Amino acid sequence: LFIKYGKSINNLLKIKKSFITDNSVFLEKQKKIADELSKQPLKTSCKICGTKPSESFFEKNGIKFFQCEKCTHLNSIHDETNEFLESLYTEDKGHNYAKSYIEQQREDYINRTETIYTPKVEFLSDFLESKGESLKENRIVDFGCGSGYFLYALEKLGIDNARGYEVSESQASYGNSLLKSNKITPFNINEAGSISSKLDCEIISFIGVLEHMKSPHDVFKGIAKNKAIKYIYLSVPLYSFSVFVEMAFQNVMARQLSGGHTHLFTKESLTYLANEYDFEIAAQWWFGTDIMDMFRSIIVTINGNRGTENAVGKFESRFMKMVDNLQMELDKEQLSSEVHMVLSRKAN
Ligand SMILES: [Zn+2]
Repeated sequence: LFIKYGKSINNLLKIKKSFITDNSVFLEKQKKIADELSKQPLKTSCKICGTKPSESFFEKNGIKFFQCEKCTHLNSIHDETNEFLESLYTEDKGHNYAKSYIEQQREDYINRTETIYTPKVEFLSDFLESKGESLKENRIVDFGCGSGYFLYALEKLGIDNARGYEVSESQASYGNSLLKSNKITPFNINEAGSISSKLDCEIISFIGVLEHMKSPHDVFKGIAKNKAIKYIYLSVPLYSFSVFVEMAFQNVMARQLSGGHTHLFTKESLTYLANEYDFEIAAQWWFGTDIMDMFRSIIVTINGNRGTENAVGKFESRFMKMVDNLQMELDKEQLSSEVHMVLSRKAN
């Protein structure tokens, strides 16, 4: 098994500084999304395995969650209806959602590619090499590619025949304006299954995408039928330490279980999903931002409490250097906020 733990967070720190300075703005937005979700009908089954919901065991921002008894997936009790998802992602042709993701400046785009997406390409490439294969001999389709960061990272490493599909037209066209050879095609989310069944590629990737779909099953059914596809490369947010940090600090913007993240995967629910379509987990990379989330929560709270606001600097200078090492302990236990996995088609 190809397995990797940890990733340095230093660069990420610079990018997400606004999480600290604009906490209340983000918090307000998340409450609005939670309000919208709370109006949706109740789920009748687990999003991943279809088992009847079990009793809810905690509530956060007015939303109740249950953990599936069969596959351990963490679900909100409310259904992510098409209306709810459309209000999140496609309203105004994706502009509302894109605001937090698209960094208009070309420099930021390149910086984001180098710090976040190039390591993803390298992980995939290292895995393929361990199998005696290479990126070049496998055609890649990045499904739900956003503004094309992953495609851009591939291009920089000499892979110029990759393609992307994206539901937001504005993100697709922004990406296409920066990409040279790899191109993005906009698509309608209802066509995910029929598109994936016909793709001419060996690798399909879902980087931070499956958690935003109404159900991953349509697109996976298409992949199961499409025997050209050998590997599925995915990254998803997990039911991790951060979720408990968020329960403790409810006045701090949450990035794990809030906003568009209305349910979270576990290793077991991912294994269930892979098995269901005759794939198996071939590579894993565990890392996360749990400790950074906890530190951010402490900083925002110290900052907001009368009398302690001056202590923030001291906290940062004393403890910030430990973020990577503390996070590594969670990563090694496979309790981190995200995982990257390569699923490979089972041989029959
Ligand atoms: Zn389940």
